[in-house]
Amino acid sequence: MNVLVTGGSGYIGSHTCLELLNQGHTVVAVDNLCNSSRLALDRVEQLTGKTIPFYQQDVRDEEKLSQVFAQHPIDCVIHFAGLKAVGESVSKPLAYYSNNLDSTLVLCKVMNAHGVKRLVFSSSATVYSGDNAMPLQENSKIGNCSNPYGWTKYMCEQILRDIAKADPEWSVIQLRYFNPVGAHESGLIGEDPKDIPNNLMPYISQTAIGRREQLSIFGGDYPTHDGTGVRDYIHVVDLARGHVSALDYLMNHTGEEIFNLGTGHGYSVLDMVNAFQQANHVIVPHCITDRRPGDLPTCYADPEKSREMLGWTATHDLDAMCRDTWRWQSQNPNGYEA
Ligand code: NAD
Ligand code: UDP
Repeated sequence: MNVLVTGGSGYIGSHTCLELLNQGHTVVAVDNLCNSSRLALDRVEQLTGKTIPFYQQDVRDEEKLSQVFAQHPIDCVIHFAGLKAVGESVSKPLAYYSNNLDSTLVLCKVMNAHGVKRLVFSSSATVYSGDNAMPLQENSKIGNCSNPYGWTKYMCEQILRDIAKADPEWSVIQLRYFNPVGAHESGLIGEDPKDIPNNLMPYISQTAIGRREQLSIFGGDYPTHDGTGVRDYIHVVDLARGHVSALDYLMNHTGEEIFNLGTGHGYSVLDMVNAFQQANHVIVPHCITDRRPGDLPTCYADPEKSREMLGWTATHDLDAMCRDTWRWQSQNPNGYEA
C-alpha cells in the first residue's frame, strides 16, 4: 500500500515509516519539522535502503497538501502530525486547538476531495476519564480531560467518528497509545525532545548521560505498590507495528474502530528508574517531589481487543525498552542535531 504519513519525521512517525517500509509498503511523508529533524527520515532511508518522498509543509496548508495527493496515488493515511506537550497546551491552548483540530479537518477535507477515505489517527490514553477502573477498555468512559492537549484528541476522535458515520465509504481507526518509550535497536532513530523533556523516559536517559542533574519523581504517596505513579510503557517499535496491523484491518473494513495500544502491564516511576539502572549499568540520580497536577495514580490498558481483532500484541519487555533507549541516547547524546 502507498501510505501518506503526516508527522512522519517525528518520534513515532519515523519508527512507523521504518516498519511500513520493512513490511513492503511505500511511504510518502509530510512534516513541517516544528518538533523533529529531517535526519530522522534520512536514517530510516539508510536503514531500509528505500526512498521516502518528503514534503516539508504544514498539514493545514490545504493547497500544498492537495498537491501531494495529486502527485502520489495514496491508498491510506496515518495522521501523527500534532502538538503533544501537555504542559505547553495549558499555557498555549489556542496553538494546540488550532494545530491539532485544523490539521485533522484540512486533512479529511483533502482526503475526501481525492477519494481517499482510509485513515489511522494517533489518539491517546489521555482521552479516558480519570474516574475509570483499570485496566482501561476501549468502551471505558472518555472525557473530563485535564488539559487542552487531551481535549484536542477527544475532539478529533469525535470529528472522525462523525465523518465515518456520515459516509459509509470511510474507514477510520483511532489508536489510543499508552506511554511510548524506547527506540529502534539500531540506535539510529529515537525520541529527541527539543526542550527539557516532559516525559519520564527521556528525562531518565538525559539524567543518566549528564544533561540533567537529577530526576524529580512527581509524588511518592500514591496508592501504588511503592507510592509512585504507575503507567503502561510500550516499546515504540511495538507501537509502530500496531499501525501496520491497523492498516491491514483498515483495508478490509469500513466504519470507525478504536484500539488501545498498550502492554497491559503497569510499572511505577521507581520500577522504571531501577530497570533503567540495572539494564544499562548507569546511575540515575533522583528525588521525590510534589505530585504533578493532573496526574493519575495508575493508568494501564486492556490490550485484548487489539490482540483479538488486529492480531497484534506488544513483544518487547521493560529490559528492551531501557536498553534501546540508552543505545539511542548514548549514540546521540544531543539528539539528531549533535
Ligand atoms: P512528535 O512531536 O515527535 O511528532 C509529531 C510530528 O508532527 C513532528 O515531527 C512535528 O514536526 C509534526 N507536526 C506537528 N504539527 C504539524 C503540522 N501542523 N503540520 C505538519 N507537521 C506537523 O510526537 P510523537 O511522539 O511522534 O507523537 C505522534 C502523535 O502521537 C501525535 O499526534 C501525538 O499527540 C500522539 N501521541 C503521542 C504520545 C507520546 O507519548 N509520544 C502518546 C499518545 C499520543
Ligand atoms: N514523571 C516523573 N518525573 C518526570 C516525568 C514524569 O515522576 O520528570 C512521572 C509522572 O508523574 C507519571 C509518569 O512519570 O507518573 C509518566 O509520566 P509521562 O509524563 O511520561 O506520561 P503521562 O502518563 O503523564 O502521559
